[in-house]
Amino acid sequence: MEGLLYLDHHATTPVDPRVLAAMLPYFREDFGNAASRQHAFGWRAEAAVEKARAQAARAIGAEAKEIVFTSGATEGNNLALFGIAESRAEQGRHLIVGATEHRAVLDPARRLAERGYDVTILPVDRYGRADPEALRRAIRSDTILISLMFANNEIGTLHPVVEIGRIAKERGVLFHCDAAQALGKVPVDVEAAGIDLLTLSAHKFYGPKGVGAIYVRGKNPRVRLVPQLYGGGHERGLRSGTLNVPGIVGMGEAAELAARELSEVSERLAALRDRLWEGLRHGLEGLLRNGHPTESLPNNLNVTYKGVRSEVLMMEMKDVAVSSGSACSSAEPEPSHVLRALGLSAEAAKCSIRYGLGKDNTEAEIDRVVAETVATLRRLRERGPQA
Ligand SMILES: *Cc1c(COP(=O)(O)O)cnc(C)c1O
Repeated sequence: MEGLLYLDHHATTPVDPRVLAAMLPYFREDFGNAASRQHAFGWRAEAAVEKARAQAARAIGAEAKEIVFTSGATEGNNLALFGIAESRAEQGRHLIVGATEHRAVLDPARRLAERGYDVTILPVDRYGRADPEALRRAIRSDTILISLMFANNEIGTLHPVVEIGRIAKERGVLFHCDAAQALGKVPVDVEAAGIDLLTLSAHKFYGPKGVGAIYVRGKNPRVRLVPQLYGGGHERGLRSGTLNVPGIVGMGEAAELAARELSEVSERLAALRDRLWEGLRHGLEGLLRNGHPTESLPNNLNVTYKGVRSEVLMMEMKDVAVSSGSACSSAEPEPSHVLRALGLSAEAAKCSIRYGLGKDNTEAEIDRVVAETVATLRRLRERGPQA
C-alpha cells in the first residue's frame, strides 16, 4: 500500500497500535470464555470485559451496567429498533427515523413497516439537519421511538441531539441515536443529550472490526428491550453469544483513547479538513460542498464536482482512497439517499466524493490529495462531458 493515501475513515479506521497491544494477550494467554465461572481462565476474561465495559461507559457518560456488547453498529441498530418495537408494541406502533440514517436503521425500519408498524421518515434541511419543530409535529400519541443519528457518515452533519433529546423526553418517546461516526470526533454524552439508546462501532474509532456496543438507559426511564438473539443469556440476557473478549478489550481501550484525545484530535482533523477544502476550492471551479458549514464532523468533507461522475474520478485517482458515499451501499448503483435527501439531483449526487480524514493523516498527504484531485479533474474536464 506504499504511496496509497487513505482518506476513507468513515468506512473504517486502522487499529491504533495501543489498542492492538491491549488486545494481544487475550488471543493466547488469557483466551478464556468470560462466561466460565468455574476457573481462573474465565475470571480473567470476565475481568477484562468488565474493564472494557467501564471504559466504554465512561467515554459516553454512562454507567458500566448500561453497556451491552454487540458485533457492531449494524447489530446495535437492529437491536434498538426491533427490541423497542417489540417491548413497546402495546403502547404504540409508530416510529420516526431520519431520512439520512444509515441503512442499518432504515432497513430495520422498513422491515417493521412490513410487519404493520407505521414509520415516519423525518426529512432534513439542505445541510442534512433535522428540524426539531418538524420532529415535534411528527410525534403522535402512539409514537414509541425516534431514531436520529449523532453524525452522518456521508456528509458529517450533526443533528441537534440535545434538542431532540429534550423533545423526546417531553413527549415520553424513546430516543435512539446511532453514534458510530461521532465518538472521538465530537463530545458524546448520553445524559447531556437525553439519549435512551446509543449505538457504537469500534472499527470507526481505531478499534477492531466486528465489535460494538449499545447503551441502554438504566434509569429515568429504565429502558426495556426485547432481545433479538437467544441462547446462553450473556449480557444480562440482552445479547446471547460467547463474548468476543479480544475485540471487547480493544473496543474499551479505543473508546478510552477516543475520549481522552478528543479535543486534540478533533482540532487537528478540522485543520486538515479546512486545508483540504481551501486547496480544492482554489484549484478548481464549480465545486459544491455538501453538509452543514459548522455543525459537522471535523474529519468530513463531501464535495460535488459538477459534470464528473465519482466512479470516473475515483478510477483516475489511483493513489487516493476516497468514496462516493457510504461503503455499505456503494455496491448499489442508486445515487446516495443522503445527498438526495439534501435536495441534490440524482446527477449531482452521482458526482460527489466523500473525503474522510483520520488522525494519522498529515498536511503533506492533504497537499498530495489536493494536487491529485485538481490535476485529475482538470484532465477529465478537458476530455469533455462524462458518460
Ligand atoms: C459504519 C456505520 C454503521 C455500521 O457499523 P458496523 O459496525 O460496521 O456494522 C452504522 N451506522 C453508521 C452511521 C456507520 O457509520
